[in-house]
Amino acid sequence: MKQSFIIFSVLFYISCSNFSDEHFGLVIHGGAGTITRENMSAEKEAEYISKLSAALKTGYEILEKGGSSLDAVEATIRVMEDSPLFNAGKGAVFTGEGTNELDASIMDGETHQAGAVAGVKTVKNPITAARKVMEETQHVLLAGDGADVFANEQGLEIVPNSYFHTERRFKSLMKAKEKEIEKHGTVGCVALDKKGNLAAGTSTGGLTNKRWGRVGDSPIIGAGTYASNETCAVSGTGQGEYFIRGSVAYDIAAQMDYEKKSVQDAAQAVVDKLTDRGGTGGVIAMDGKGSFAMPFNTEGMYRGYYFSDSELTVKIYKD
Ligand code: ASP
Repeated sequence: MKQSFIIFSVLFYISCSNFSDEHFGLVIHGGAGTITRENMSAEKEAEYISKLSAALKTGYEILEKGGSSLDAVEATIRVMEDSPLFNAGKGAVFTGEGTNELDASIMDGETHQAGAVAGVKTVKNPITAARKVMEETQHVLLAGDGADVFANEQGLEIVPNSYFHTERRFKSLMKAKEKEIEKHGTVGCVALDKKGNLAAGTSTGGLTNKRWGRVGDSPIIGAGTYASNETCAVSGTGQGEYFIRGSVAYDIAAQMDYEKKSVQDAAQAVVDKLTDRGGTGGVIAMDGKGSFAMPFNTEGMYRGYYFSDSELTVKIYKD
């Protein structure tokens, strides 16, 4: 009798705890661009899949333990920043002058607080510097030397600019100088935690062969990144100038807010608009219920998702 009561209690507890657990999870991107099966070796493909999966697992574990969407976004992006595979952190592309200048931003959908850095040259993890700007200053965006000095003052890991020098990106710069090529590879993450709070973040090295001092959409709130619990969390990747002119991330939120569109319809409409204007790229967008979309108009986009009710999924090509 006593035994069956214990078993019953345990089963009751398990079923209650399952019911009380909110839907949570995250969506990531590792950049959109000319990514085709023909141009990808099996080895490289496996490396991308493994690193995207590791990033998703990092964020998922934080959310599973009841951590915030902000913590998940920051930690997930750091995994991709530390990998030479992506155009963010370690794998950042080069400016036309042969230096690396990095941009990043983060936004909290619950409070609408946001932080960003632009053109940093010595911060190992720009996404963490962006979060520090959000939490430790009255400002939203710090740029250039002021942002580097701030990150140092905050005790973040500082590296020489040469840390960002990778042979692969240097060759891209050389190629770009011969003939304009485009290189995408920005990273981004949107997450929903158990409390129902959304957050978004984006980190990039920008565009290969960009003018020094050029700032893209990634650190611009409303262009490359946006989050509001009332609508959605968004991170974009593509030709930043088009994303800034189109206020792409906020446009998705606005269409959901004013036109009551679903996140899928709003995100697709904004990518269609990008196409009409001649821009390339893609977005990841998620609403407060964990419904999401990952549209893009390029040949491929490194992307993936992992939710409490779904398997970890990683995709690269259009299909
Ligand atoms: N959007 C980034 C920028 O323009 C580049 C990218 O996503 O690849 O800086």
